[in-house]
Amino acid sequence: MAGKIIITIDGWSACGKSTLAKQLALKLGYLYVDSGAMYRSITLYFLRNHVDWTDTNEVKDALKNIILEFIVNPKTKQSEIFLNGENVEYLIRDLIVAEKVSDIAAIREVREFAVAQQQKIGAQKGIVMDGRDIGTTVFPGAEVKIFMVAGSAIRVERRFKELFEKNPNISLSEIKTNLEMRDYIDSHREISPLRKAKDAIELDNTNLSEKEQFDFALKLVNAKLV
Ligand code: C5P
Repeated sequence: MAGKIIITIDGWSACGKSTLAKQLALKLGYLYVDSGAMYRSITLYFLRNHVDWTDTNEVKDALKNIILEFIVNPKTKQSEIFLNGENVEYLIRDLIVAEKVSDIAAIREVREFAVAQQQKIGAQKGIVMDGRDIGTTVFPGAEVKIFMVAGSAIRVERRFKELFEKNPNISLSEIKTNLEMRDYIDSHREISPLRKAKDAIELDNTNLSEKEQFDFALKLVNAKLV
């Protein structure tokens, strides 16, 4: 039996990356790391503290005051993100954060800050990390790389269902606009744009059930573990 490996799951917004990553982590006894939660938490900090993110010095100073930690919730067995000691797992899913996160994630200093921590967390292997640049920049040598895609309508619908539970005033068109805007910024930014790594396997889950998608991914993983 081979040792622990690194599994990366990148792809467009709301393709179901985190659902698959959590299932794989649970099955393998690995740590799940939601790299998007780091960018969302930094965004929350910038918004709360009125950081002018067009000013590099302000960004650098603000980053010095940010401590991010992933702590496993004993009830759900899932890791949740803490910003300076506060559990912000729920707050960072808000549309107010989603509207600004791609601009902030495009800033060089922010990416360097987040990527260094992601690489540190992954040094021991045994992790499943999802995001936009995990297979290309964070862990280019990862053993299993999955790139997820899904049709636009299904992605909007899935995200709507998630967010509607928290905010019944949210509209489909708001979500569609946000997903399109983030995908555009994420795939056109200068540093580590969203791309499929050359050695990533594409998984289109438009017409797949969660079980089918999981089985597909688990096969890829098992092939590397034997
Ligand atoms: O994965 P999630 O949708 O929560 O990510 C929120 C945002 O964080 C993305 O739209 C993207 O701008 C940024 N992100 C990134 N690189 C990652 C993960 C997320 O730039 N590895």
